[in-house]
Amino acid sequence: MLQQRHLLGIQGLSKAGITSILDLAEQYATQNRSSQKHSAALSGMTQVNMFFEASTRTQSSFEIAGKRLGADVMNMQMAASSITKGETLIDTAMTLNAMHPDLLVVRHPHSGAVALLAEKVNCAVLNAGDGRHEHPTQALLDALTIRRAKGRLHRLTIAICGDIAHSRVARSNLLLLGKMENRLRLVGPRTLMPGGIAELGVEVTDDMEAGLKGADVVMMLRLQRERMDGGFIPSEREYYHRWGLDAAKLAHAKPDAIVMHPGPMNRGVEIDGVLADDINRSVIQEQVEMGVAVRMAAMDLLARGLRARPSGVYV
Ligand code: ASP
Repeated sequence: MLQQRHLLGIQGLSKAGITSILDLAEQYATQNRSSQKHSAALSGMTQVNMFFEASTRTQSSFEIAGKRLGADVMNMQMAASSITKGETLIDTAMTLNAMHPDLLVVRHPHSGAVALLAEKVNCAVLNAGDGRHEHPTQALLDALTIRRAKGRLHRLTIAICGDIAHSRVARSNLLLLGKMENRLRLVGPRTLMPGGIAELGVEVTDDMEAGLKGADVVMMLRLQRERMDGGFIPSEREYYHRWGLDAAKLAHAKPDAIVMHPGPMNRGVEIDGVLADDINRSVIQEQVEMGVAVRMAAMDLLARGLRARPSGVYV
């Protein structure tokens, strides 16, 4: 069981909480590879997915996760919802709240919007990505993928590369991998580094060779154009030349370094397409697979907390 009612970010999770999610997810990963994928952890419960921003992997894996655990799962069609008629986020949340969901999975373009919503509803809220702030289940699935590939989640050299400034994935990963005592390097153009990053105690460089040297894990990030106002890079061609991951740049990392990307990928911009598909180096498909397992584990643990509340009333 987790201490908290919601999963809003890695920030609020303890090391023990992270480990308990990963350990349970490991069991679900095994179950997901068998022909009996169902269990009853969320039986009788209702899960509502509200995605105010586009999503492929996260939304579909939360949906599969809920269904495998026996919940009734409803995907709100946000484009067709009253939000387009001017209803506020809070009004929408209150309307849904009246239908007594148990779990609300929310993605929103504004940092902090999911936490605000969590204050207003009676159910457990899971943050599926809020602006540039956090994407906790992505960091958890990345951690599980790393732990399975490397056999541990501590004392690894991990290079996170690319558009750090606009990335909630980078932020949640920095928090999680830092808590687990890894050596973290941020690599990318200075224009895509957030201000005050040096204070986090991580190494920062704009040089891929120096950044990848001796790395166990190379995590690439997408250029998040939808969050950029203005020109942050000279051109995509130039960006690929200096910061795009290809076999030559990867050769500076350890020979058994793994390559990660949260998706969606811009092939030929931040990563070479052939390398992304190289099953000897790339764990990108395993990241997607672990996404389902981690979301099952997170919802299972939150549901245990809900069930433990006196009289089952979530107030
Ligand atoms: N899918 C991830 C996110 O929602 C990464 C990305 O969009 O680049 O943050």
